Amino acid sequence: MNNSPACFDHFVREFTRVVDEATGDEAQVLAKGGALLADLVSKDEWLPEQYAQPHPQYYQQYLLHADPDNRFSVVSFVWGPGQKTPVHNHTVWALIGMLRGGERAENFALGEPGQPMRALGVDVLSPGMVESLSPTTGDIHRVSNLYEDQVSISIHVYGGNIGRISRHVFDAQSSALKPFISGYSNESEL
Ligand code: FE
Repeated sequence: MNNSPACFDHFVREFTRVVDEATGDEAQVLAKGGALLADLVSKDEWLPEQYAQPHPQYYQQYLLHADPDNRFSVVSFVWGPGQKTPVHNHTVWALIGMLRGGERAENFALGEPGQPMRALGVDVLSPGMVESLSPTTGDIHRVSNLYEDQVSISIHVYGGNIGRISRHVFDAQSSALKPFISGYSNESEL
């Protein structure tokens, strides 16, 4: 991130230490890293304006930090009013911390081939809340801005360089999947 604020640098240092010490223990990363993320999103004055910009048409994913060994990445996810993702998976663990506004996540499991996906319930996040996802317990969801009339922002940490990972989007009606790579909204500065 350009002009990285001190509290974000601190977060990255501490998160790196958690990942170093966990040596692949995902539960430990999610527990200790989740506490660090909760602390980061408990304050809302640190995210530089350039990483808080919505787009009129598309939700934005700005890469804030990529671990040099690709063990994790940190992204600001900026929702314009009413924007939503397709149904998608991650293939790596994820932590989601709500910074501003609100977010609605609908969780799914694959159905039989050609059959609708199974709805597993809805999570609503408000500022300060942190949620985790893991491929081992199911990591398919569709996420949307809770609000039709305001921007929402969440900070995501993923267990890999998420913008470079080949993963999937799904058709909720047929459980059909196709590969996708999300990239980043700030590719030009990377
Ligand atoms: Fe997601």
